Amino acid sequence: MTRKDESAQQSLETSSEALFVRARGIVQGVGFRPFVYRLARQHDLRGWVLNAEEGVEIHVEGAPEQLQAFVEDLKTRPPAAAHIACLEDAPAEVQGFDDFSIRESTRRNRPTVRISPDLPVCEACLRELFGLADRRYRYPYINCTHCGPRYSIILGLPYDRLQTTMKDWTMCPDCTREYHDPTDRRFHAQPVACPRCGPQYLLYKQAQVVGRGHEAIEQAARMLREGQILAVKGLGGYHLACDARNEEAVLALRERKYRKEKPFALMVQDLDVARTLVELSEESKALITSISRPIVLAPASVELPGVAPDNRDLGIMLPYTPLHHLLFDQGAPTTLVMTSANRSSEPIAYQDEDALERLAGIADALLVGERPIARRVDDSVASSGPLGPMILRRARGYAPSAVTQLPTSGPILSVGADLKNTVTLVVDGQAFVSQHIGDLEHYQAFQAFQETIRDLLCMYEVAQDELLVVHDDHPQYASTLHALELPGTRLAVQHHRAHIASVLAERGAWDKTVVGVAFDGTGYGDDGTIWGGEVFVGGLREGFRRVAHLRPAVLPGGDAAARFPVQAAAGFLFELDELPDLTAPPFNFPRRYLEARELVQKGIRTFSTTSVGRLFDTVAALLGFTGEMSFEGQAAIWLEHLARTSPSVSPYPFPELDFRPLLRAVIEDRLRGRPAAEIARAFHRALARSVFETGRQHCDAHGLDTLVLSGGVFQNQLLLEEIKTRLEDGSGDNLSVWMNRAVPPNDGGISLGQAALGAVSRVIS
Ligand SMILES: [Zn+2]
Ligand SMILES: [Zn+2]
Repeated sequence: MTRKDESAQQSLETSSEALFVRARGIVQGVGFRPFVYRLARQHDLRGWVLNAEEGVEIHVEGAPEQLQAFVEDLKTRPPAAAHIACLEDAPAEVQGFDDFSIRESTRRNRPTVRISPDLPVCEACLRELFGLADRRYRYPYINCTHCGPRYSIILGLPYDRLQTTMKDWTMCPDCTREYHDPTDRRFHAQPVACPRCGPQYLLYKQAQVVGRGHEAIEQAARMLREGQILAVKGLGGYHLACDARNEEAVLALRERKYRKEKPFALMVQDLDVARTLVELSEESKALITSISRPIVLAPASVELPGVAPDNRDLGIMLPYTPLHHLLFDQGAPTTLVMTSANRSSEPIAYQDEDALERLAGIADALLVGERPIARRVDDSVASSGPLGPMILRRARGYAPSAVTQLPTSGPILSVGADLKNTVTLVVDGQAFVSQHIGDLEHYQAFQAFQETIRDLLCMYEVAQDELLVVHDDHPQYASTLHALELPGTRLAVQHHRAHIASVLAERGAWDKTVVGVAFDGTGYGDDGTIWGGEVFVGGLREGFRRVAHLRPAVLPGGDAAARFPVQAAAGFLFELDELPDLTAPPFNFPRRYLEARELVQKGIRTFSTTSVGRLFDTVAALLGFTGEMSFEGQAAIWLEHLARTSPSVSPYPFPELDFRPLLRAVIEDRLRGRPAAEIARAFHRALARSVFETGRQHCDAHGLDTLVLSGGVFQNQLLLEEIKTRLEDGSGDNLSVWMNRAVPPNDGGISLGQAALGAVSRVIS
């Protein structure tokens, strides 16, 4: 870093030129600076690299052709976990450096540098973890610049050890040496630690520590083998774990967790074990081994009693922390249930005291790591859908990456919807979508929602009064009420328009006009009724005009209508002229149906809806799902899996989204004794055909070529397969179908759509 004497420099470096380079994107905490350091040396360049708030800044000087090659390598060979969103370079003045160095971080204005999501343990660290002679042999907190925790340990920016939850551990001389050696894999790896200086894992039974370090892990693996239930601290929260092949353990976990039927996620030792459980397509394999390591839904090839009742799919993930690998190595069962540690639908536990208290009645023991978790980050869920990979829950491994760039400079906070809530903060045009937060009707989820907003604003140093706050039209949403209390200007966005906007925003399609189909369970409509079967024509700048919708039905009984399929059926079937006795076989509807029907007749406590989700519930009720749902979307999932067991059949009539001919045909076929699976299949085909044909009709009428699909109904893989078939049989010539890729098609994507429409409104006004 020393500056040379001018004349000496001139004689030595007559052909030197200099460049200033700035890389933005995910470039901090992913081994970027050491990579730049090595690259600079390789190309015989001098200068420096540093972490600045807008990204990584580099000054290099040397031979012009080497400078060019250096920039080319920066672009084409970045570290695996890095993501360069933008690389700028400009000529600079030669300053005569005689070496290349890594400089201290600077701190100037607002930190818009992106925070890396948490990363799975890398191959090099795994080799050391199981290398007998390595000083980190069996150390559960091993990590390096290519792997380990990031978002879940960050307390502030820029990303430096003192601003992480590792701040209380002082590095030993060996770790310090690695940390400061630019040629080492742990150079500036902020969470670097070893058994001598770092945190450990402890095993608690009844609030007593019964094991420490490796002994704790060994004991935990043994308990899992013996069929016990363990709470295990991971990256972004606690899991509850048990042997997935031990039915007794699985059922005990369901009972203690108050989780009746909702599927449990599994963690398998490796890909070979995964292949014994599910059909793993190439696309699914790419997802499950991707750097985000999500839970991947794939068709089950075995039956694991109690794990995913009435579900074709199993949700599977690979181990991603060193601790997970150690548990398997110590003989834990090769297939573990690994479900978020909470009761029912509370948010995942992530603080030790809270976990010890809340999980005491559920887990036989807790494996508690000493490194604190800065914020709650659930496992992500993804699937390789027929129309491309789809994220169903976006959290660990994805959040808080920016998903897209919006055309706005002022900050925007959008607060999402009340179910599957996420929030989005837009800073300098970058849209940071939060991790999955949950259903805000639960008090703890609502608290998590407030925490996440505070956290994001604080992290990116955004003052509340600068904000444009975007919320849903629903006047009673908890998120809306919260938004109304925040300072700043506000904008309300209709739910289903936000769904379609989210797809266009992901692709930066600011000026495109499309036909958008938004099908889901519920969303507040322009007319104050509950929408959920909407077709729009329009775009982000011009807005979306509603051009068609499901024929409305009148539903009785508020929220319960979404929990009891027979209650939805009472409303939809009321629109039909003649009905058989539905309390008799083969329907066997319970009394609740008659009570609900009476409410509809008298018009008491009813509301009007165009919800396709409730239409699914109605058909499910007619085919035998007459009880209560124990989780959102259960009847629709049941119907999808029932339909899969049938060969392909011709679709029911569903003209102009009028459900009456469709439901009449369902009832007639059911009375005639047609297999329920075939009826379910014909229903799916009818829906697919109507989506496709409505889409094409409006595209033709407006000279458009793109159909956008979003909303929770489009998580239905069978529906997408049927749509894909229609696209491929030639009837879909010149029609492109766009769906969400970066955020979920369900309400987890709403906050992005809100932010996009917020950005546009600001530009226009
Ligand atoms: Zn590593
Ligand atoms: Zn150490």
